[in-house]
Amino acid sequence: MLQTIPINLFRISNPMLGDVVENRRLTAETRGNLNDVRHLVFRYKDNLPYLPGQSIGILPPGLNAKNGKAHQPRLYSIASATGGDHRDHQTVSLCVVRHFWENPATGEKGIPGVASNYLCDLKPGDRVKITGPTGKHFLLPEEFKNKSLVFVATGTGIAPYRGMLRDMFDAGYAGKVWLVFGVQHGDCTLYDDEFENWARRHSNFTYIKAVSREEKNPIPQEVPTRNDRMYVQVRLFERRRQLKELLSEPDSVVYMCGLKGMEAGIFPILDKIGAETGTQGSFVAKLKAEQRLRVEVY
Ligand code: NAP
Repeated sequence: MLQTIPINLFRISNPMLGDVVENRRLTAETRGNLNDVRHLVFRYKDNLPYLPGQSIGILPPGLNAKNGKAHQPRLYSIASATGGDHRDHQTVSLCVVRHFWENPATGEKGIPGVASNYLCDLKPGDRVKITGPTGKHFLLPEEFKNKSLVFVATGTGIAPYRGMLRDMFDAGYAGKVWLVFGVQHGDCTLYDDEFENWARRHSNFTYIKAVSREEKNPIPQEVPTRNDRMYVQVRLFERRRQLKELLSEPDSVVYMCGLKGMEAGIFPILDKIGAETGTQGSFVAKLKAEQRLRVEVY
């Protein structure tokens, strides 16, 4: 495991070159463009140490139509473990959803996002320009081996946990870890086979799914969700007793990655747990101050 956090080894002026070695769709083909999520692996010759939880920047080719200048890098969370996607220290992977915009000024829909569509359309052998790595906050705690961790993800926010879990199990992790993962459809559960496999092999790993468009929220009074959909916050509330036990451990850490909207659903649950354990004031604020709540949402 790296002792120091590598930061900005490659910049816009001196990007690293990576060759695409894999572009694999992670969701059912039948979902079409709407749920098109890709696992992309780049191989490089340079030295790019990184930690899961960090991001790399991708420089899309071409010019920004608005200002005629080169595109700025788009940041994506690294989906591979410290040793590389192929455990060779020469590969890095991303989990990218094909994105479409709506122009609020014109009402035009389905405008392809520049970077995500560029990435999702890449073919093996294509060359990309990479910057980074960046990010010092959304990392595994030091000495994580016996610490209890709660990972909460929505959609492609799953990326950092894939690398973290691999690093943890490789290092003989002996704490308790939960992965609470929200997706729209069961056949869009990113990396599901990998997580199911770890859950079978590691009794200290609890893998919990919230499939929003296929499962109904059974407790909408306690935890309201859009159209009574099953969201990650419902799963956390259902397990609040075990969660309380886990968060009573002073070095346990909660991670949230994905859609910004999940904060409003999860923070009240954490505060409620805090109140029950005698915390004065906001438990969320306390957890954040103690670096026991790490959030990466957009
Ligand atoms: P998505 O498929 O749109 O949503 C994932 C799940 O979250 C769905 O089940 C969705 O339910 C549910 N959801 C929607 N609103 C929610 C709320 N308020 N509370 C809890 N759950 C909610 O997700 P996505 O398109 O993959 O987007 C993921 C987000 O992660 C993006 O904002 C992206 O920028 C961010 N992110 C990406 C990376 C990366 O490296 N790719 C890293 C960090 C963060 P319904 O749609 O059925 O309502």
